[in-house]
Amino acid sequence: MKEDKHHQKSTQSRKQFLQRSALAGAGLSLAAPFQLFAETSSDLNGIAKTNIKTKGYAAKDTSGVLSPWEFERRPVGDDDVLIDVKFASICHSDIHQMKGHWGPQQYPQVPGHEIVGIVTAVGKNVTKFKVGDRAGVGCMVDSCMECDSCKHGDEHYCERGETLFTYGYPSEESPTGITQGGYSDKIVVRDHFAVHIPEHISFEEAAPLLCAGITTYSPLITADFNIGDKVGVAGIGGLGHLAVKLAVSKGAEVYAFTTTADKVKDIEKWGVKEVIVVDDKQSNLVGYRQLLDYMICTIPYEFNSAPYISCVKPYGTFTYVGMPEGFSLNMNNIALASSRVNFNASLIGGIPETQEVVHYCADNGIRPEIQIINADQINQAWKDVEDKKARYRYVIDAATFG
Ligand SMILES: [Zn+2]
Ligand SMILES: [Zn+2]
Repeated sequence: MKEDKHHQKSTQSRKQFLQRSALAGAGLSLAAPFQLFAETSSDLNGIAKTNIKTKGYAAKDTSGVLSPWEFERRPVGDDDVLIDVKFASICHSDIHQMKGHWGPQQYPQVPGHEIVGIVTAVGKNVTKFKVGDRAGVGCMVDSCMECDSCKHGDEHYCERGETLFTYGYPSEESPTGITQGGYSDKIVVRDHFAVHIPEHISFEEAAPLLCAGITTYSPLITADFNIGDKVGVAGIGGLGHLAVKLAVSKGAEVYAFTTTADKVKDIEKWGVKEVIVVDDKQSNLVGYRQLLDYMICTIPYEFNSAPYISCVKPYGTFTYVGMPEGFSLNMNNIALASSRVNFNASLIGGIPETQEVVHYCADNGIRPEIQIINADQINQAWKDVEDKKARYRYVIDAATFG
């Protein structure tokens, strides 16, 4: 029965997609009547069934340079909310994906998966949000919602492979053919995939929680360490600095590993036990051999992970959340074998846990370190992220996309 319903839904959206494609192909002569028809059509809530005109910044090629782009999002469907974006923050993943480091991309493509704003319209089936609510969107915007993983809040591990990531993924419902991300002034999203942003955290400080926050919170919670356990964080950037703050707040004795000496003073303020400035040859890691109960690594480039893994105690766990070019790892089997460290990798977190981390940070005073920028500063900010100059998350003011 459910299969049928699902099939119907996808057949219907495919039909709409084909209709739209046909209209687009018919050229200018049909554009005017289509527009007229669309503007007069609305659902019971009075929401116009027209595409949503959106302004954003897009990559047009693999250069890593973004420029202003006007595009359309799908109309607000029965299960959708329309969010007037207030802030969107910059994740290293945005840069990797736009530059094609993880595979070929379709352009123009709008990156951004740390998105916050105000709900300005809701579809007729939506009960989770009402107009005026504060909402956030992270790394995914849809999934099958019916498989065991989806039903248990692991929508990012949808067993049917239908997890729809926030930008660059094929979407028949999207007028551009792919999902388009948060570096823009509006987003339409299925209500389930938006989370509430409580009043006691600012929009700009909530934005980085939608990817950096959940990506570090989920494995830290799964690690289930005890108060006083020694937790290592490798790579102190957007993700790593939140991992440090989260682990400290959970009572861990935190060891922060960075290659950037001028971050030490900042990191010390966040309550760590020790900051280790790792030298070029990683030789000083020897002094930390088998010290840690748990280690999380956020380094987004390929590097020699063996000396870091050796810092974990026998039978301890090492979780790698950074995503290097080509997703490739540099491992050493004897580093794992000599202490039977459990090595795993982790991708974001599900929607219930994303809601949880937002509340956890809001309630416990955990705030990302941010720098607010305008849209025309994005290209410089991307360079600064790559040069390890970000301190520690750039947050774009969406009012400057217009
Ligand atoms: Zn991200
Ligand atoms: Zn699923």
